[in-house]
Amino acid sequence: MSNPNPIFIPGPTNIPERLRRAMDVASRDHRAPDFVDLIRPVFENLKPVFGTSAGQVVLFPATGTGGWEAAITNTLSPGDTVLAARHGMFSQRWIDLCRRHGLDMRVFEAPWGEGVPVEAFAKALAADTDHRIKAVLATHNETATGVRSDIAAVRQALTVADHPALLCVDGVSSIGSLDFRMDEWGVDLAVAGSQKGFMLPAGLAIVGVSPKARAAMETATCPRAFFDMRDMMAANAAGSFPYTPSVPLLCGLRESLAMLAEEGREAVHARHHRIAEGVRRAVAAWGLSLCARRPALYSDTVTAILVPDGYDAGALVAHAYTRYGVPFGIGLGDVAGTVFRIGHLGQMTDVMALSGLATAEMAMVDLGYPITLGSGVAAAQAYYRETAAHAVPAA
Ligand code: PLP
Repeated sequence: MSNPNPIFIPGPTNIPERLRRAMDVASRDHRAPDFVDLIRPVFENLKPVFGTSAGQVVLFPATGTGGWEAAITNTLSPGDTVLAARHGMFSQRWIDLCRRHGLDMRVFEAPWGEGVPVEAFAKALAADTDHRIKAVLATHNETATGVRSDIAAVRQALTVADHPALLCVDGVSSIGSLDFRMDEWGVDLAVAGSQKGFMLPAGLAIVGVSPKARAAMETATCPRAFFDMRDMMAANAAGSFPYTPSVPLLCGLRESLAMLAEEGREAVHARHHRIAEGVRRAVAAWGLSLCARRPALYSDTVTAILVPDGYDAGALVAHAYTRYGVPFGIGLGDVAGTVFRIGHLGQMTDVMALSGLATAEMAMVDLGYPITLGSGVAAAQAYYRETAAHAVPAA
């Protein structure tokens, strides 16, 4: 039997019944003349979610990692210098992927719990007067640490330095849930995945491409075949794909975009903020700290919580799963064992969040954590009650 409980990992997220039904479709011919009727509105309706009208959005049968690879191999050449920061597991993995493609990575080390080090980036960009840096990588929402970075500030650093580098942003755990403004922030490549804010299974890498990134494809020499965006864009323009797309996922994405539009983008962002704030109030009531070091960095899609000294966060997550059947996120990389994560993105309501908080409390008390049963739930309840008038529940 499938587990009837909601899940609290930061992706894949809970799949709404409406989307499961939308994906229950018969096979159809992706080269038929009416296939365009399915995909064209999907591409158009993705644009506002990415905050772009100047750019376009492409879909690959892949995951977020494939989106990273598509973004860099289509626009860069081996040996190109790329500026990046390592401040969590996902920023680290993107750096590693770039290295494997022969890019010359200039990496700033930042504490895990901090955001993109914008001042260090600004200095590096200002000093790079011969424009050796071809791209700047930024992880909008570091899922490993629950940290949201200021992408507008990274763009500002590029603007002040009058620097032409491409701005490549990992929005895998933000786009669809948090405010994302590709055009306004001057983002050239924005990577998302179907299994987070879009509430679908993994399987679609969703990449926003600016006109400048599109132009860079003509001179980039990194090898690419499956991920060649020029092939993809040409096929899409003709109403198809260069290879066989997953029709169920495309149908799911069409419905997911309808759900986001019905709720309204601002309401979606506000809901994520409310839910996250309730979770943060619970953490404060437990007397625990967040991995994110300052409120300006707090993520509204995932909360990473430091366990007290002497406790093993991995054991806590394992206990919650085996005893109560509720998955939370383990700590990854440098914060393995010291952090557990509550994912609260995608389809999430006050009531779902409260059930996760109640479970986390039971698991912590079982394992002898110095917290009072009910304290976090009560703090979150109080906040959700106070703010409920503004709530727009997910469909
Ligand atoms: N980037 C971020 C911020 C993520 O959270 C993840 C996955 O959790 C990825 C990239 C990698 O995405 P995927 O697992 O879909 O390849």
